[in-house]
Amino acid sequence: MTKHPDFDLPALVALRRDLHAHPELGFEEHRTAALVAERLRALGLEVTTGIAGTGVVGTLRGTGRAIGLRADMDALAMPESSGKPWASTVPGQMHACGHDGHTSMLLGAAEVLAAAPPGITVHFIFQPAEEGRGGAKAMVEAGLFQQFPCDMVFGLHNMPGLACDEMAVVPGPQLASSDSWTLTLRGEGTHGAKPHLGRDPIPAAGMFLAGLQTVTGRIVDPLQPAVVSACSLRAGDPKALNVIPDVVEIGGTARAYTPQVRDQLEEGIGRLAHGIAAAQGLEAEFTFIRRIPPVVNEASATQVALAAARRALPKVRTEFPPSTAGDDFAFFAGEAPGCYVWLGNGPAQDGALHHNTGYDFNDAALPSGVAFWVALAREAAS
Ligand SMILES: [Zn+2]
Ligand SMILES: [Zn+2]
Repeated sequence: MTKHPDFDLPALVALRRDLHAHPELGFEEHRTAALVAERLRALGLEVTTGIAGTGVVGTLRGTGRAIGLRADMDALAMPESSGKPWASTVPGQMHACGHDGHTSMLLGAAEVLAAAPPGITVHFIFQPAEEGRGGAKAMVEAGLFQQFPCDMVFGLHNMPGLACDEMAVVPGPQLASSDSWTLTLRGEGTHGAKPHLGRDPIPAAGMFLAGLQTVTGRIVDPLQPAVVSACSLRAGDPKALNVIPDVVEIGGTARAYTPQVRDQLEEGIGRLAHGIAAAQGLEAEFTFIRRIPPVVNEASATQVALAAARRALPKVRTEFPPSTAGDDFAFFAGEAPGCYVWLGNGPAQDGALHHNTGYDFNDAALPSGVAFWVALAREAAS
């Protein structure tokens, strides 16, 4: 049986649903951050607001080591179709990734730990803008770890498919790097009937796209996961089918679990782009934008998280496939030994997974998440 620490579960469910009904996008989490700060202050914690805009840290002061526990607060720019009574009240915005649950669980843990402190210092870190807007990086650059030094840092994400009293705590890679790339192939536009009078970038774009998967298939070690996808392609005008355009613009994503493979993807895509452009007499502008490093669980932090999960929950997996999604928790884990864990969200409701318009955090997971965070603080203190 799951051991639930002593906290007000109905109040926490109400809070989670209130956050769900009032989603806010990255760096716009003003209502959420104010609510978080107010709750932390009511618990008697030291509260620092306005870190990288809307970031909040609540500190429970102790002695010895200090740990950081991270929850993300932001929602996504998409409509909600869940039909739940607590569905989004904001058109075009919704909590489709369960960050409403993450914020609630960390507040629940703060409530329990404030009443029965673990002895060490715990920084409850409420992060803005996890969904691609760079909240973690902005907090690190704002001096988060200078102001709140941490010996270890932990993140948690809900995961449909695992039971609500189940966690996965796994050493090594958890989430991929998430980088963007763009390519502009520039030639010289001309009449569609007289291609010899210009330099056509369209066939070169075709060659580039056809060759793109050789970067993962021929350059990267087959035993190392890697993904390269072209996700945007723009050229010409469908209303001008006798005009060869000057320019083709292509863009996409690249994912890897090690710095070495990340380098190989940047170099491989760039070489392909420049090589094809040179062969076709075109100019190529290639940019590779490093957005988020991979999340790789550090051994000692993972040991602490695993012991805590086993203390708190009946079912703990130590094997679970890594995700090709990214999480900017990676920037926190770059500053202190870090561990990122998965908490079950129950079976996918109507097939709705993360970032689906029907997704909803499962309130049945709230006690598990609180129990884990509390056990983690106690484990780190022991
Ligand atoms: Zn997400
Ligand atoms: Zn998320």
